[in-house]
Amino acid sequence: MSRLGERLLDLLYPPKCAFCRKLVSDGRMLCPDCEGRLPAPEKEMQRQKISGLAVCLSPLYYTGDVRQSLHRYKFQGAAAYYRVYAELMSACMKEHGLTADLVTWVPLSRKRLRSRGYDQARLLAEEVARLQGLLCERTLEKIRNNRAQSGTSGVEQRRKNVLGVYRPVTSFTGEHVLLIDDIVTTGSTLGEAAKVLLDAGAGEVSALTLARTDREDRGFRTESNGEIDYADI
Ligand SMILES: [Zn+2]
Repeated sequence: MSRLGERLLDLLYPPKCAFCRKLVSDGRMLCPDCEGRLPAPEKEMQRQKISGLAVCLSPLYYTGDVRQSLHRYKFQGAAAYYRVYAELMSACMKEHGLTADLVTWVPLSRKRLRSRGYDQARLLAEEVARLQGLLCERTLEKIRNNRAQSGTSGVEQRRKNVLGVYRPVTSFTGEHVLLIDDIVTTGSTLGEAAKVLLDAGAGEVSALTLARTDREDRGFRTESNGEIDYADI
């Protein structure tokens, strides 16, 4: 949607904080209350080592208001949240001194893209790239519509579920690629996507997601209240 289109929508639906849904006055979808109290890992816990990746950075934990917010972003059409999410992600990159040659994203399958209408990781990647002054390119295609990662349990099963799911749509000559997704849980999806990019000639792959699961809460189980965990879908 164009910036003008977004402004018109703002008039019809005054912007609310993406996390607590209180009205915000300055158009920034993060209220001062949430700014100070979102569940954020300590700086060293924002970095994760995942097989295939130089580093994976995430500014927030996937819990509480962050989890509810991401659910609205992915399943209830709150696509405009990409702006505030990308702002937090870009700030995290800066804080950790991460740079890259180009930005890309973990794509949805065509089928899921059709039903959702937008690729939530692509919106984040394009905005992070814009904020960082980097190129953003599609580099991967999802060729197999695997089971949603939330429907699998256990690290090994999740790893197998994403094997061979992505194929490169471009080739590289040693670039450092920044791979964007909304959530990282076990890292199976990001690890598999990174492997495909490295095989296609990328020199190094780093990842940046809005949120990560806590160590004790890997997030691939069904919640006791019956709410499904949508991580990695
Ligand atoms: Zn708020």
